[in-house]
Amino acid sequence: MALYRLRRFVGEIAELVDTAPNEADLIARGSDALRRLVAVDDWLPDAYAQPAPERYQQFLLYADARERFSVVSFVWGPGQRTPIHDHTVWGLIGVLRGAERAVSYRRDADGTLHEHGDEITLERGTVDAVSPTIGDIHRVSNAYDDRVSISIHVYGANIGAVHRSVYPLDAPPKPFVSGYSNDTLPNLWNLGKDSVES
Ligand code: FE
Repeated sequence: MALYRLRRFVGEIAELVDTAPNEADLIARGSDALRRLVAVDDWLPDAYAQPAPERYQQFLLYADARERFSVVSFVWGPGQRTPIHDHTVWGLIGVLRGAERAVSYRRDADGTLHEHGDEITLERGTVDAVSPTIGDIHRVSNAYDDRVSISIHVYGANIGAVHRSVYPLDAPPKPFVSGYSNDTLPNLWNLGKDSVES
């Protein structure tokens, strides 16, 4: 298990959170790092790649001690999708397995929510970004009805504890806190057993 790839990624994000001059720079360089992470599918432990029949799973893989960022694996069963939702912080989405579809939403001046642009398909290896400054409301689904898709996300907070909203099209926004599907995390720090390979 090449967990060192995830360890290297969280090191890169920690460095960026410390040094990036602004959000645009953080998103650009963080996207490069995430693209490298999802380019190779040999490191995600099976425990954090399991779908559930009821709903998509959100497994915490790493949380910064100061909650400046968190890394999660999103596991989509066949045909599963999110409601329309926001994040309130920057977020990067990289597809590790399968593919996803995403639709963005924007608010009119009168507050009405409407689709913004076409639905996009995120193929394996591609990275997308959200934030309150570049567009924060979307709906995401598994592009496949017959197999699991998995994406790796990094957010600018402990995302499972953030107070966010879902946006039913025919009702007022509803507050939610997502939590996580797991109680234990992968051990990134067993350096003797998981050395960086050339
Ligand atoms: Fe999202």
